[in-house]
Amino acid sequence: MGRVLLAAPRGYCAGVERAILTVEEALKRFGPPVYVRKQIVHNTHVVDDLTRRGAVFVEELDEVPDDALVVFSAHGVSPAVKGAARERGLRTIDATCPLVTKVHKEAVRMAEDGYEIVLIGHAEHEEIEGTLGEAPERIHVVDPARTGEVSPGRPQKVSWLSQTTLSVDETMRAVGELRERFPDLVDPPSDDICYASQNRQEAIAAIAPRCELVIVVGSANSSNSRRLVEVALDAGAKAAYLVDRAADADERWLDGVETVGVSSGASVPDLLVTQLLDWLAAGGYADVEPVTLTEETLTFSLPLELRSNRRPG
Ligand code: SF4
Repeated sequence: MGRVLLAAPRGYCAGVERAILTVEEALKRFGPPVYVRKQIVHNTHVVDDLTRRGAVFVEELDEVPDDALVVFSAHGVSPAVKGAARERGLRTIDATCPLVTKVHKEAVRMAEDGYEIVLIGHAEHEEIEGTLGEAPERIHVVDPARTGEVSPGRPQKVSWLSQTTLSVDETMRAVGELRERFPDLVDPPSDDICYASQNRQEAIAAIAPRCELVIVVGSANSSNSRRLVEVALDAGAKAAYLVDRAADADERWLDGVETVGVSSGASVPDLLVTQLLDWLAAGGYADVEPVTLTEETLTFSLPLELRSNRRPG
């Protein structure tokens, strides 16, 4: 019979907790429908659950009727989207994670100081779209694995920023490559990769070398969840998979496996991990050893619009 190493921290981070609570509180206070631009967090289960309770998820603001209430997702939005909402007179609540807002502010300041900004991240991700929108003429997005492709206009005045959910090791490698090309490269004032991504990566890296198999619970469009699979493989797991829910796991993965590592992305409710542990227990992996690297205590207060008595606008 095999055993399970259960990584901690895993699951919800402070930004995701706040974003989900924001939609729940908006539904309670203002009643459905509450429109949400993009998935509030990148998790199918969370989105389905909020949809059942009256949230309406849309891709763009033109799908939101006039006079409706719209919540911006945890990944952040560009000033252009906020401006378009204002122009249409939509009522808005901004659930952008404060740690994403911090990167937006750094981008604005660096652009004001005259830097060409290399933004390391995945161009198709909503967070990168939002940050890019702060200074589109100054920001150059580059994938961490393809730093050679970026060519800022003034190579003597270059700084860098990153997506909050990247792998720490891959980002540091990318920065090293950039520094070889741009020796005067200026660092951001503090790490952009958020505490939650770092903690989850460290925890999975600690268990991975002891596991023949690692299963990460998370949706395929969740950047931080996908990074956990990569970190597990880099750290020595023989195999690692991402599953949205227990039903997606495959019994054949367990062939010849003695130790299974389990973790989950920052947007994943712990219920989904419990269901995976139940599935593993039914397959003979009932012995669960929690491995906790760090205790997390950070919480964020709700957006201003939900802290006061005023109507969002
Ligand atoms: Fe904020 Fe990090 Fe959570 Fe993203 S993963 S919502 S940046 S705390």
